[in-house]
Amino acid sequence: MKAAPFSYAKARSLEHALELLGQADGEARVLAGGQSLIAALNLRLSSPRLLVDINGLADLDTIALDGDRLVLGALVRQAAAERSPTVIECAPLIAQALSHVAHPAIRNRGTLGGSIALADPAAELPACLVALGGEVEIVGLAGRRRVAAEKFFKGLYETDLQPGEVLAAVRVPAATQASRYGFGEFARRKGDYALVGLCATARASAGRLQDLRLVFFGVGVKPVRARAAEAEIERAPLEENRIRKAIAALANDLDPPEDIHASKALRTHLAGVLLERTVQQLSVSRP
Ligand SMILES: Cc1cc2nc3c(=O)[nH]c(=O)nc-3n(C[C@H](O)[C@H](O)[C@H](O)COP(=O)(O)OP(=O)(O)OC[C@H]3O[C@@H](n4cnc5c(N)ncnc54)[C@H](O)[C@@H]3O)c2cc1C
Repeated sequence: MKAAPFSYAKARSLEHALELLGQADGEARVLAGGQSLIAALNLRLSSPRLLVDINGLADLDTIALDGDRLVLGALVRQAAAERSPTVIECAPLIAQALSHVAHPAIRNRGTLGGSIALADPAAELPACLVALGGEVEIVGLAGRRRVAAEKFFKGLYETDLQPGEVLAAVRVPAATQASRYGFGEFARRKGDYALVGLCATARASAGRLQDLRLVFFGVGVKPVRARAAEAEIERAPLEENRIRKAIAALANDLDPPEDIHASKALRTHLAGVLLERTVQQLSVSRP
């Protein structure tokens, strides 16, 4: 099958992209890395009238610190972020998670913004962003706004992005000495979307984990925060073994789907295994 006919326009600036999108009455799509969009067009899952190519917008291809926040432009390629010394230093969770996204050839073209805007329920980056307490920066004809990641992801492939808007950047708190991160996922083959994955962040203080965020992916329509398990682990000092209780508490947090890839029982079991492994990573001191 081939894509339905569409028009193509290369944006010269962000303002030009917004103008083009605004003229299309919601019938346009932003083209970033094209790794998901082009497949969706060819399968006719999506039939926009116009593609607005933002690949020339250098302003969206930057990685910079803004005070205590790391700001990652939407057009930063996944491979570039994975290798960036700034990302490795200030947001190691993102660098670690990216090595699990698809394959190097796809990461060479795929962008951070594309992955966040697509909001695949089994994707790594949306869960990372929620675990980090990050924000999404959105630009439209009405101006610029920021949305907390936890509110940005609304449902299955559904986000707070409105027709005509462009995701410009994501902002995450830069790592401090007290920051702790954990990541794990199970996939059938390296590079496949995860059956179940977990992004975890915490702050180490006086031998305890505080501000713990356990965010699962592949277990619901969007990243799922496991608040009951978080509460179990935060309740006691790190030395005490809270893992069993936390795994039991996952029953209150998760209701994984059953599909051709895995049963609900398998996903639930894998979530418990990931929880145990990932909390151990959180307990490891930063060098
Ligand atoms: C074989 C294969 C395996 C993959 N495995 C994984 C995996 O394991 N984990 C994973 O997370 N991903 C995986 N992906 C997806 C890959 O990471 C894509 O690159 C990513 O999902 C989309 O990024 P993109 O830049 O290619 O976006 P595009 O394909 O260009 O766009 C995707 C969607 O986002 C919209 N969009 C893109 N950028 C913006 C923006 N700045 N503002 C507003 N809307 C925007 C587009 O309009 C489109 O609807 C896989 C892809 C393939 C082909």
